[in-house]
Amino acid sequence: MDISSGLINWYRKSYRELPWRNTRDPYKIWLSEVILQQTRVAQGVGYYYRLTELFPDVKALAAASEDQLLRAWQGLGYYSRARNLHIAAREVVNRFNGRFPDNYYDLLQLKGVGPYTAAAIASFCFDEKRVVVDGNVLRVISRIFGVEAPVDQPSGKKKIEKIAGELVPGNTPGLFNQAIMEFGALVCTPQKPACDECPFTIECIARQKDLVEVLPVKVKKTVVKNVWMYYLVLKNGSDVFIRKRSHSSIWKGLYDFPSVDSEYRQDISKVFPAFAEKYGLPTGVFIEKISSEFVHILSHRKIYACFIEADPGKNWKKMEGLTKVRLSDLGQYGIPRLIERYLETREA
Ligand code: SF4
Repeated sequence: MDISSGLINWYRKSYRELPWRNTRDPYKIWLSEVILQQTRVAQGVGYYYRLTELFPDVKALAAASEDQLLRAWQGLGYYSRARNLHIAAREVVNRFNGRFPDNYYDLLQLKGVGPYTAAAIASFCFDEKRVVVDGNVLRVISRIFGVEAPVDQPSGKKKIEKIAGELVPGNTPGLFNQAIMEFGALVCTPQKPACDECPFTIECIARQKDLVEVLPVKVKKTVVKNVWMYYLVLKNGSDVFIRKRSHSSIWKGLYDFPSVDSEYRQDISKVFPAFAEKYGLPTGVFIEKISSEFVHILSHRKIYACFIEADPGKNWKKMEGLTKVRLSDLGQYGIPRLIERYLETREA
């Protein structure tokens, strides 16, 4: 069977109804693609609705503040995606007079838009013949065509791109790209692919050679670093002090409590003097409560977090960079999921 037509035929019968499937608006396709990087479809749908409602077009997104966008993005993680979206929206307004770029090379000029996203938008919205190679495509092609070269190395990736380039039809590149990605998401999945229901059981080399479990080959392993975070929740009645993370960090632009980070688990009695010095706390600060440890897993980090609630006393002078807010109003700020989890347990 011709693989391209087989994929398109399968897609026509089996695709999932998703909100971004009914549009060729490049702004909306861009939003959906950025949301879906590192996010499952089931979780991404809600965010897509929320973002398109709050910011219905690129001008609305450009006019929003970064805080507004980060608040809407809260819980999705990988906040650099949201910061880049915001910068790129302003680029569209300022450099492209508010008209979304309509070709691969112009799209590549936008902040955060790499070859994958540019190819997806160009092919889905403008039928430009471009190859979209994401994790699904790497997996499907490496299995059907029996590519044993590591797909996370340049030579292996090049092989896959070459095959994908030969498969993508000139008349319906967008449809094909969506079909192969959807096929990878629903049939040729990373674990337990549905080989028995697959239309390519005869063509698939991985299946013939019993390599389904082996392909695609990857050599890089993700290194996960352990980090211990000790948060200081300074309270003043029903108010708390928060800071906006401005330094380079995964949570840049979000709000949380002052913290001391460490590569090792520390004794609270040793951490507290470091806080006292850093935030000019008087001696005799009253520690009210120490939370149990929260384990928070990110792609490259395993965070062990502890929250120390303390009353700094009346004479303490608030340090620069800290903002006093009502604890009950904290939800109005963009906060990392970890802080949200801590607040949930306080309310429980
Ligand atoms: S037969 Fe199995 S491994 Fe091969 S393409 Fe189909 S689902 Fe993927």
